Amino acid sequence: MDRSKRTPVIAGNWKMNKSRTGTKLLIRELAPLVSNARCNVAVCVPFTDLDAAMDAARGSNIIVGAQNCHWADNGAFTGEVSASMLTETGISLCVVGHSERRQYFGETDETVNKRARAVIAAGLTAIVCVGETLEEREAGKLNEVIERQMNVGLKDVTAADCAKLVIAYEPVWAIGTGKTATPDQAQEVHALIRATLAKLVGAETAETVRIQYGGSMKPGNAAELLAKKDIDGGLIGGAALKAADFAGIIAAAAQA
Ligand code: PEP
Repeated sequence: MDRSKRTPVIAGNWKMNKSRTGTKLLIRELAPLVSNARCNVAVCVPFTDLDAAMDAARGSNIIVGAQNCHWADNGAFTGEVSASMLTETGISLCVVGHSERRQYFGETDETVNKRARAVIAAGLTAIVCVGETLEEREAGKLNEVIERQMNVGLKDVTAADCAKLVIAYEPVWAIGTGKTATPDQAQEVHALIRATLAKLVGAETAETVRIQYGGSMKPGNAAELLAKKDIDGGLIGGAALKAADFAGIIAAAAQA
């Protein structure tokens, strides 16, 4: 498939960094800067900021997403939020399996799978994160880790579900560290992700799925990463907290 048929998606992961007021201000600052974007633009905010973000984004091309959700529809899961609850807020996507959730909150490939399927079943787009640690890369386990995260994390996700699937390749050693995978390193893993996905859902469907790169992406390195044939956007942490930097990455997507 011609890669130009995959609309790049640039999503900001604001993590636990913005209050409701800060969320509104940043979206209002960002909106005019990205109104002509030639890619999908999203911001993923804490649960408590979702409605504020939806308000601020109304009338703009900014899509609002969440950063996590539980797999059950309802029940005795104190402190959790279900995918169907998220749909009630009007948002359209949800990040699943971010490495910070794997590292600090006991997320496993199995729970990533449950969450991803719940998000998709609720009609939201799931951004499913995969990526290796530095130790895994240096031990020569890169392919094994990515294939396991894909095979288990996407178990029972069908070809039809893939219309609601985005994958984010986020090497853990590059997140928030200022170290970025080189475009060739990133492309190599993106190609592996697409090949692994092809075995799960068929090559034709795998060609339609967008694979984002995440890990210290910024205006200065976005263009060369996004120029690679299997890199279809970015999941951005730090640089998404400054409107001008985030807009700079979005502008780079137009040149890819
Ligand atoms: C992230 O947290 O998903 C991320 C990619 O962060 P950063 O851009 O700050 O490395």
